Amino acid sequence: MNTRVLIVGASIAGLTAAHWLTRSGFDVTVVERAPGLRTGGNGVDIRDDAIDVIERMGIMPQVRALAADVRGMKFVDAEDRAVARIDTSDPVAVEIMRGDLVALLHRSADVEYLFGDSIRALTQDADGVTVDFHTAPTRRFDLVLGADGMHSTVRKLAFGPEEQFLRYKDHYFAFANTDSTLGEDRWVTMYNEPGKMAGIYRSGNHAQAKAYFIFRSEPLAYDYRDMAAHKKLVTDAFGSDTSWRVPGLLAAAVEDPEFYFDALSQVHMESWSTGRIALLGDAAWCASPASGAGAELAIVGAYRLASELAAANGDHRVAFERYHAKHRALVEKKQQICMNMGLMVPKTAMGRKVRNTLARLM
Ligand SMILES: Cc1cc2nc3c(=O)[nH]c(=O)nc-3n(C[C@H](O)[C@H](O)[C@H](O)COP(=O)(O)OP(=O)(O)OC[C@H]3O[C@@H](n4cnc5c(N)ncnc54)[C@H](O)[C@@H]3O)c2cc1C
Repeated sequence: MNTRVLIVGASIAGLTAAHWLTRSGFDVTVVERAPGLRTGGNGVDIRDDAIDVIERMGIMPQVRALAADVRGMKFVDAEDRAVARIDTSDPVAVEIMRGDLVALLHRSADVEYLFGDSIRALTQDADGVTVDFHTAPTRRFDLVLGADGMHSTVRKLAFGPEEQFLRYKDHYFAFANTDSTLGEDRWVTMYNEPGKMAGIYRSGNHAQAKAYFIFRSEPLAYDYRDMAAHKKLVTDAFGSDTSWRVPGLLAAAVEDPEFYFDALSQVHMESWSTGRIALLGDAAWCASPASGAGAELAIVGAYRLASELAAANGDHRVAFERYHAKHRALVEKKQQICMNMGLMVPKTAMGRKVRNTLARLM
């Protein structure tokens, strides 16, 4: 039986897999590039099968206690008057700040952690995988699971360059902390110019508000790990906007050391495994924040992967195939994001009018 598992990435997918694998007797190590847990981000939704997984992990009461309780989206004009609202509250789903969820999952996964380190090389043979770390000494594992997000290093090392798998969806997005008095409590307030959205996310139980930016663009050349370059791109896109609260939101965002920016891209792969190495979460199937399903897919996928490994007594050939077969349909469904983008970022002024009319009817 394969027992020693390395998980790369300590976020929603990696920590959920760590919990379930440990429960089934696997010996798990998690390596995370950041020096500690990355707790940034807005609210994420837990729904349907993900609720069941979280309940069985025993952390649902804590998740519910921290629920962001956001009621929906409010669209405003330049004078900050609400022109339409969409109630997205769902009595069955739970929305929680991403950082709160990551912290709860971390507490529920009692495994070996290597923070502030990453992998340099993966060499697999019939018996296992030799892993070269940046800092820790080289080690052997039976299996390696890549839960290291959209720009996964595991995917690059084991499957090839990310350009093969990333599909750019015509937009860039950024999140940042902002003045906590801005926006309406429990609503995501959005202001649109054609092809652009600036917004404020206000959870029901957090002192802080989050600024949210999306803009439509041709693909841009930049280093995805260079925060100064990210801030410049968002400033280039929104710097000339003097309407609504855009200048203030932008000024606060560029001061935020946790500023988060990326292309709105999806990951599409024929297979999520090669030999003893498998991918999960955004590394395997990123549906993008516009899907509203990143956390749900990560939780359910991690559970399915760990369950299949347990059911197959660690036989990765059987388990990886079953995991793929069981999870694929949900991923493909959640990767349909066209309607969400049309709602959040209409392309034209006419599109914005139509969206507002539809939203009022909804
Ligand atoms: C800081 C942050 C903020 C986010 N905010 C939002 C949000 O507001 N809304 C939203 O919908 N989604 C957000 N996301 C994405 C969201 O978490 C995912 O879409 C989804 O939950 C699936 O999570 P994941 O665990 O697969 O990947 P991610 O959450 O992206 O986590 C990947 C983890 O792997 C680590 N990592 C990356 N490369 C390496 C490496 N080479 N070695 C070791 N570790 C590595 C990263 O530091 C990170 O902790 C955010 C992600 C991050 C990292």
